[in-house]
This record gives sequence, structure tokens and C-alpha cells, in this order.
Amino acid sequence: MLDTIRRKTEAGERITGEEGLFLLRDASVLDLAPLAQQVRYRHNPDPVVTFVVDTNLNYTNVCDAYCTFCAFYRTEKAPDAYTHSIDTMMEMFGEAVSKGVTRVLLQGGLTPNLPLEYYVDLVRETRRQYPEIDPHFFSAPEIMKISQVSGLQVREVLAELQKAGLETIPGGGSEVLSNRVKHKISRLFPKGKVDDWTTVHREAHLLGYRTTATMMYGHLEEDEDVIEHLEHLRALQDETGGFIAFIPWSYKADNTALGRRVQKLAGPNRYLRMMAVSRLYLDNFLHVQASWFSEGKKTGQVALHFGGDDFGGTLFDENVMQEAGFYNRTTVEEVTNIIRDAGFTPAQRSTLYEILERY
Ligand code: SF4
Repeated sequence: MLDTIRRKTEAGERITGEEGLFLLRDASVLDLAPLAQQVRYRHNPDPVVTFVVDTNLNYTNVCDAYCTFCAFYRTEKAPDAYTHSIDTMMEMFGEAVSKGVTRVLLQGGLTPNLPLEYYVDLVRETRRQYPEIDPHFFSAPEIMKISQVSGLQVREVLAELQKAGLETIPGGGSEVLSNRVKHKISRLFPKGKVDDWTTVHREAHLLGYRTTATMMYGHLEEDEDVIEHLEHLRALQDETGGFIAFIPWSYKADNTALGRRVQKLAGPNRYLRMMAVSRLYLDNFLHVQASWFSEGKKTGQVALHFGGDDFGGTLFDENVMQEAGFYNRTTVEEVTNIIRDAGFTPAQRSTLYEILERY
């Protein structure tokens, strides 16, 4: 089967679900690298690896979804629960701008306590006070929650946020796009089904938003679920063309209820395989992001030879994975050195992958 996949990759033909499963399960991981790089260079012919100078902030940790894989959420009455005012968020953004940040990835818990106006004001004030920042705000489950609390349709919520200046939304909340998996890991089920995530992204694309897609693997999913996830993304990208990039990362277990049910966490070998298979399967995605943050800097660096053309964000602040016992930090200098050492030219980009500076 590897020869068929090689021939298809060279000819620019699409691989099937069965072939994807073979690559995930049976192919040698070293056979995957040159195949994935072939597709990477077809989409991005220059030996450039991009990164974004960004920060990952949160406006509230109050959440009533209680996902079993999450260590970040707090109940409303928890002593360390917080919901920041718009003014506090603007102060945090001001600090980020002083560090050179050009994008803020902002996410929060699913709270019944905030009106639509709060989210709209967050976007509008960010645009007004910090035009140098790209607001990359609110994942699909948050958009669904805003819709539920406000009584507006998902499309109407997205339209209001767009009017305030939002142009891109992050891909969080997909975990693994398989209802079998969602049923096992999410207490939100059956509300947080595959269709909910894809509907938000489809509606966003139809309104002119660009969005990212993610996958958090390494818990209770089977290989078939991973392929189903990639199939949902590939089909939606065929339909709308609205995805900018795909970002896979592995589940971090500490302080989560799900951690007790996961026998073995996914390591670097699985990550590199996941990167390469994603690049090969998602033949209609221009960018696949290697994650120094979730997988470690060395594994992230190797992933640049397994299909990754982007090294993600500097993520100056990050709380969600930190709550799950995972701490990792970097600087622009370190990121550019890692990229150079891997044999590529580093370039700073915007959320939409416009090159801002070559190093
Ligand atoms: S993952 Fe998001 S939606 Fe789920 S409990 Fe955590 S904060 Fe809430």
C-alpha cells in the first residue's frame, strides 16, 4: 500500500481513509517524513518556517461544561474563579503589546453569566485601543454558548462579532471530531457533537471569517476516530476553503478527571506520525503547525521535517495546559534559532500568514 500512497502523493492525488489508516498504524514513521515533506513543499515551496508573536489569554475560567479532559475550568463559586472586566483585559493586552505581541488568542470557559455585549465590546475595544493586535478570539463551543445565552443564532452571533472587528477564530473545542470519542470524554455530550463544531466553522467561513482547525489526540480515541476527524476537516475545507491551518497536539493529563482513564499518553513518535498523516490527508490545507509548546522544543523542531511549515506562536502567557501540569516557555530568539538549526529560514507572520519579518 505504501507504493500506491507514494505514487498518489507524487501525482498530487488524494489518499483514502483506508490509506490514512495504514499510514497511522503500519507504515514506518521514517517513511512518512519524505512523503509529508513533498506535500508541504507543494503548498509552501520556500524553505521558510513561520511563527507568530502571540499570547494566549483567558477572560474567564468559569465554565459549566465540566469536560473530563480539562484542568482549567472552575465552578462559579470556586475561590479561584475569575471573570475579567473589559478594562482588565485591555490592561493585559497593553502589556502584551509592549512585549511585541501582534496576535492575542483569547478563550474562556462557557459561562451563563456574560451577555453578548461583553464579547462584542472585547473585540471592539481591542480593535480601537490596540490596532496592532489581531484578535483571534472565541472557539466554537464559546460561540455556541453565546448563542444559547443570547438567544441568537450562531450566524447572528458571528455577524455581531464580525461587525465589531473579529476576522478569525481559533479551532479549539474540536478535540477529536468523532461522536464516539466525544461521548466518552465530554460531559457536554450530546450538545457538543461533531456537527456543533463544524456548524460554527462553516457559518464563520460563509460569513468571510478564516479559522484554524485543531486536534487534541492521545486519550480514548482509536485510529479510525483520527481519520474521521481528518475527513470532517478535509470535507469542510473542500466546501468552504475557510481554514487557514491545522494544529494537532497531544492531551495533557494532570489534574483532569479523564487522566485516570488514559492508560498511556502519546509520545513524540505518535506526534510525528500524526503530523505527517495530517499533512498527507489534509491535502487542501496550506499550513500545518508544529507545536514546540505542547510536544517540547526538540520534537517540535523534528516535526518541521514531518510536514510542518509553521512553528506556532510564542504564547507568552498560557494557562490552560499549565493547569494540566504542563509548563513551557520560549522567546523570539529561541524560536528563530530552533527554526534555523532545523535548516529553515525563520519568518514572523500574522494570523493570516502574511510575512511580517524575515530573520
Ligand atoms: S475545555 Fe473549555 S468547555 Fe470544557 S470544561 Fe474546559 S473550559 Fe469548559
